[in-house]
Amino acid sequence: MLHPDTNEAPVYNLYINGQWRTPRSELYEPTFDPATGEILGYVAKADAEDTREAIRAAREAFDDGYWASMAPGERSRLLHQIVDAVEERQFELAELEMRDGGCTWRKATLMDIPVGLIHFRHFAKLADFEPLEPLPQIQFPALSYNYVRREPIGVCGQIIPWNFPFLMAIWKIAPALAAGNTVILKPASYTPLSALKLVEIIHDTGLLPPGVLNLVTGPGQVVGPELCSNPMVDKIAFTGSTEVGRDIIRQAASTVKKMTLELGGKSPNIILEDADLDLAVDGSLWATFMHNGQACESGTRLFVPTSIYDEFMERLVDRARQLKVGLPDDGETDLGPVISAGQLHTIEDYIQVGIQEGATPVLLGERPTDPELANGFFITPTIFTDVRNDMRIAQEEIFGPVLAVIKYDTVDETIRMANDTIYGLAAGVWSRDVERAISVANRIKAGTVWINDYHLISAEAPFGGYKQSGLGRELGVYGLHEYTEVKHIHVDLTNSRDARFWYDIVVPRKE
Ligand code: NAP
Ligand code: MG
Repeated sequence: MLHPDTNEAPVYNLYINGQWRTPRSELYEPTFDPATGEILGYVAKADAEDTREAIRAAREAFDDGYWASMAPGERSRLLHQIVDAVEERQFELAELEMRDGGCTWRKATLMDIPVGLIHFRHFAKLADFEPLEPLPQIQFPALSYNYVRREPIGVCGQIIPWNFPFLMAIWKIAPALAAGNTVILKPASYTPLSALKLVEIIHDTGLLPPGVLNLVTGPGQVVGPELCSNPMVDKIAFTGSTEVGRDIIRQAASTVKKMTLELGGKSPNIILEDADLDLAVDGSLWATFMHNGQACESGTRLFVPTSIYDEFMERLVDRARQLKVGLPDDGETDLGPVISAGQLHTIEDYIQVGIQEGATPVLLGERPTDPELANGFFITPTIFTDVRNDMRIAQEEIFGPVLAVIKYDTVDETIRMANDTIYGLAAGVWSRDVERAISVANRIKAGTVWINDYHLISAEAPFGGYKQSGLGRELGVYGLHEYTEVKHIHVDLTNSRDARFWYDIVVPRKE
């Protein structure tokens, strides 16, 4: 906890009601580059009263009706202009994304920023939706005309994690704004900078009325409970761990808020006997080690059939050894640092757990010795074989570059193990026989199943979890609908009292 005036790094304030404001406490927290330990900036530490101020601003902006009742085409036009402005500054955003969260330059420039822009545009386009949906003619008990009107929900509190900071900010604010809601966004404390820059760019366009978009940085344990329990907030959208997700449900229960939760995962990745091995080996590495396994949908439980096991594993381990662990700004780095010292220790602890449980580390993760990496949180990949599905390393989300490989004999047995988890976010199936792969995909309890691919999250497709991986869906048209209330309007067309009100009807009791 520091006062920023003694330091040189930039200072970031709260964004409330269209203005940048200092936190009431005047306290700021540093945010670091996990590759070097360098302090990148000092970020405002909001308290509950700062949060309430942002909530009041969002409430007033919603209730004045200007944004909520704007013609959908107009809202869409403004959002497209905002996306244009964000796109112009994409390299600035990529730089911040890399430095604040430790993702590789490859990930920032090939995935986070361009995909975020595509997803933002998707919702800018969807903002021009038809809010009235006619229902089939209803004749009983009398002729009536019926339709559904989609309305914005209201004030949305949105809490996001550190692993995809820019993309998660887009997934939250874009559909909420597109549907006419107002927003208070709370970024993760490890990675607030790209969301702050995004909001700064939006502010500079001058296109959003004050209070429609607010950003509050600060401890999740302070800002979160206020957002979740404040009666002026209508909806909570949260992406993060299942543990905090359970807490969010508890906090939001007193005011029965609308809710979407995108939580953890331990996704199965299933190789079928007839898989194209080159594709499946690279795909399995990608499924597990992309962003060091710090993705909720990472395919960290790999199921390999006995018949091709030895060949598959030989190739997989060989390719994994070649993955380059290095500084994120090196354009060839595959694995940069993990997010924090705490996360590094968690990963090392899980490696010990796996060894104690009797799994075999055919590739053992260790801290690299390269002096260039000495100040960051780096660890090389781990692959465990001889894993049983009931081991902790197969059941618990590690959120690091650790793969658990399970050998199997029959597909039925694999599907049973794949589904034997509290999670249900995603899965992969690899086969040359698409029909067979689809029949496996149909039996997996997960919100997304990729066949011969992994991590591909399209703007048009819904994303979200079965079981304890979450509630609701993001993206597609589903993501927009999660930010709307559905109102049924019934218009009687008969103007007759007959058959509708009971006052003139006598119903004799049956003997
Ligand atoms: P986390 O610890 O659950 O934190 C997520 C967010 O919640 C952060 O902004 C955090 O703020 C805030 N928070 C912490 N305690 C809170 C509380 N008591 N009430 C309300 N908010 C609170 O998760 P993380 O470590 O940042 O992210 C990793 C997790 O996110 C993994 O489990 C991953 O699977 C999941 N994830 C899921 C998806 C998906 O779409 N399903 C996508 C990405 C990540 P502070 O940063 O200030 O603590
Ligand atoms: Mg940081």
